[in-house]
Amino acid sequence: MEGYVCSLCPRQCGALRYEEDGEGICGAGTLPRVARIAPHYWEEPCISGERGSGTVFFSGCTLSCVFCQNYEISAKRRGKLLTVEELSDRIKELEDRGVHNINLVSPTPYVESIIRCFELYRPKVPIVWNTSGYERVETLRRLEGLVDIYLPDLKYTDPALSGRLSGAADYFDYALPAIKEMVRQTGSPVFDDSGIMLRGTIVRHLILPGHTKNSVSVLDCIKREFGTSVLVSLMGQYLPLGRAGEFADINRRITKREYEKVCSHLEALELEGFAQELSSAKESYVPDWDL
Ligand code: SF4
Repeated sequence: MEGYVCSLCPRQCGALRYEEDGEGICGAGTLPRVARIAPHYWEEPCISGERGSGTVFFSGCTLSCVFCQNYEISAKRRGKLLTVEELSDRIKELEDRGVHNINLVSPTPYVESIIRCFELYRPKVPIVWNTSGYERVETLRRLEGLVDIYLPDLKYTDPALSGRLSGAADYFDYALPAIKEMVRQTGSPVFDDSGIMLRGTIVRHLILPGHTKNSVSVLDCIKREFGTSVLVSLMGQYLPLGRAGEFADINRRITKREYEKVCSHLEALELEGFAQELSSAKESYVPDWDL
């Protein structure tokens, strides 16, 4: 069977990908492998609203975060293979349930299939690109006019930390230009009359235990580079999942003191956005991978 040579993400593996599986770091084949398609109510309020965000969780990931909160699907690639036509039908069904948007989670390895999917059927609600932030600008440019809302993480500014915990010392070198490209495409946030986001970029940051300096540096970077042209979503729900038990510094939840230190810095910088409550750190919020 003929393979497709991939350079979609910063890994630029040049790996061969076949329909079901691939030889690249993400392990993804060319057909979309999907773990869950359902309305989701625990995104930011302007994304989930009352009717939920129509999430499509893709399996496989271009990063290898040892603490991944979705380890079952990112590293173990649990999920079901769909054809592009089946994915298109499932997205249409999701839209028919009244969700506020179609939210593609960890979509990067499947850019080719997703573009073809939206050629078959383009939903009328906004499309959300929910990503680790580890993206190539060249790949993002192909999404211009197709994606309405970008929801990237900015996990680290420190290369030593991103190398040790996510296997990508060049994370920040790619994430910063990638988010600049996203903001160029979407412009500043736009909402409808009921406060649901129609367009824009929300930069997410998960506070890691023992690494509040990294969080402060990430917030400083957002302030310096983007000001109020993005919203910030500060996440305090870290749980020591995945392989976190092998790393002493991150094998615990964040403390109230750590959480408050980072939240105070967000306030001091007068950045706009959201801070997730510490009480949201519960394993019951990890979805069932039940496609
Ligand atoms: S998307 Fe996967 S196969 Fe393609 S370059 Fe990235 S890690 Fe390699």
